[in-house]
Formats: sequence, structure tokens, C-alpha cells
Amino acid sequence: METSLLEERRARLVSYRRAYNKAHQKEITKSKIKKRRIRKIEVKNFLGAKCVCCGFADALEFLTVDHVNNDGAEDRRKSCGNNDVAYNEIWRLMKAGLPVTRFALLCWNCNASKHAGNGVCFHKRNK
Ligand SMILES: [Zn+2]
Ligand SMILES: [Zn+2]
Repeated sequence: METSLLEERRARLVSYRRAYNKAHQKEITKSKIKKRRIRKIEVKNFLGAKCVCCGFADALEFLTVDHVNNDGAEDRRKSCGNNDVAYNEIWRLMKAGLPVTRFALLCWNCNASKHAGNGVCFHKRNK
């Protein structure tokens, strides 16, 4: 096949895709959000589905990924405030079968308390 023909085809494919994306933007965004939600659930299940501090395990939405070494500020800065960088990193390790050492699950209470207590949750203080 001639190069020009190939290029023509490629250009047509690109413009087709662009038009498709434009027409289906809403659904694409929705499915992206859905994928992200599922990914978060899988990551939380992978990390044990309970708070490593107090053992809370009643509901996944009360659990959040915590940076074990309190080095989350940089990650959050990179992702404009949310924890997606952490989730993506854990997802990558999970798929590669590698150990997750930088992250652990904490419930929001322990997470908030840990931040208030300079990296130590109330449960671990005063002991
Ligand atoms: Zn907790
Ligand atoms: Zn705690």
C-alpha cells in the first residue's frame, strides 16, 4: 500500500475518533468516573478493607488511603488536591504483584486525628 493512502486512512481515523469523543463526551466522562470509583474500591479491598489503626471495617467509603510516611503533600499537589496519584500508584503495584509499603488504609477519623497529631493518631497517643 502507498504511504499517502495509509496517511489518508490514519487522518480519517483521527478525525472520526475526535468526532466520536465530542459526540459522546458525557458518556465518556461518566464511564471514566465509574472506572475510577471501581478502581478505588478494588484498591481498598486489596489493602485489607479496614482501618489499620482502629480496625474499622463497616464501610469502604469511610476508609481512605493514607501515606504511611506522611509524604502525601507532594502527591496531592501533583493531582490538585485529590488522592488519585496514590490510588494509581497502588493500582500499578497491585497489578504488578509488588508489595505496597508507602500506603495503608485509615478511616477518616484516624486520618484526621493523625494529621492533627503530627502524624500520630489519637489511638496511638497517650499510651
Ligand atoms: Zn480508624
Ligand atoms: Zn486511630
